[in-house]
Amino acid sequence: MDIQKIMVIGSGQMGAGIAQVCAQANFTVILHDLKEEFLNRGYQSIEKQLQKQLEKGRISRQEKDETLQRITTSLDLSNASSSDMVIEAVVEKMDVKTALFQELDRLANEQAILATNTSSLPITEIAAATKQPERVIGMHFMNPVPVMALVEIIRGLATADEVYEQTRDLAKRLKKVPVEVNDFPGFVSNRILMPMINEAIYTVYEGVASPEAIDEVMKLGMNHPMGPLALADFIGLDTCLLIMETLQAGFGDDKYRPCPLLRKYVKAGWLGRKTGRGFYSY
Ligand code: NAD
Repeated sequence: MDIQKIMVIGSGQMGAGIAQVCAQANFTVILHDLKEEFLNRGYQSIEKQLQKQLEKGRISRQEKDETLQRITTSLDLSNASSSDMVIEAVVEKMDVKTALFQELDRLANEQAILATNTSSLPITEIAAATKQPERVIGMHFMNPVPVMALVEIIRGLATADEVYEQTRDLAKRLKKVPVEVNDFPGFVSNRILMPMINEAIYTVYEGVASPEAIDEVMKLGMNHPMGPLALADFIGLDTCLLIMETLQAGFGDDKYRPCPLLRKYVKAGWLGRKTGRGFYSY
């Protein structure tokens, strides 16, 4: 099947970024969310990103306009019927994702690939919620999507070879570098990254150093472009907590126990950049 039309579900920071790179690679895109205000926020963030690229001379005004014209918005999931590929980027909760995949299984074109951008949840379990698990696959983009080259590709136990091949080829058409990894909690990226972020939060919690000092140590000492706490704020502390919980439940090992300070911040609604406050104020 030749992929031409892609539906992106969830117009948050990841969904908007995925919709943008798909539209910039000449695909027709349907951006779907639960409410008009969420769609407006997503669409505006794409417009802002493209404007920045225009100002830096990376794209022309015509390219910007044509990219935006390729994106339509949707509040009706049955729009999935006209798509060749669906990429889901909603909240990192298994029950939300499985309910959505059950609906997609019913509403999407039978040939369509159903991909999830989950950061940590088992693809096999999401796929098992559908009647066609062979067409479900993990396509894990990095944040910010327009900037980061990597896409982790994760096959579920039942994923068909041709679904894998088409997804890998799609990543290349989006000018990304696909890396195939196996279906274990957190895959490779968040299995390694998230315990480091969690440890950085424990380091604040235990009073070893301030967030600024911890980030400075990791930037200057380890050559990380961003400190782990600034990165946690960027990812979203709610998402960080959900990923740690997935690792802890998936491996049953105490080394993945989320730091109580992370829980506290999430309970307070301090979710990082997206709410204006996390380890830093924005
Ligand atoms: P976000 O909170 O910015 O956006 C989620 C969007 O999904 C919201 O607009 C919300 O309204 C929408 N949504 C929720 N339930 C929905 C439903 N049933 N149908 C349609 N839309 C729905 O979250 P995000 O940071 O963009 O993360 C989305 C997914 O991407 C998660 O699975 C996350 O783990 C993954 N991810 C996040 C990052 C990151 O750095 N934040 C990186 C890679 C992958």
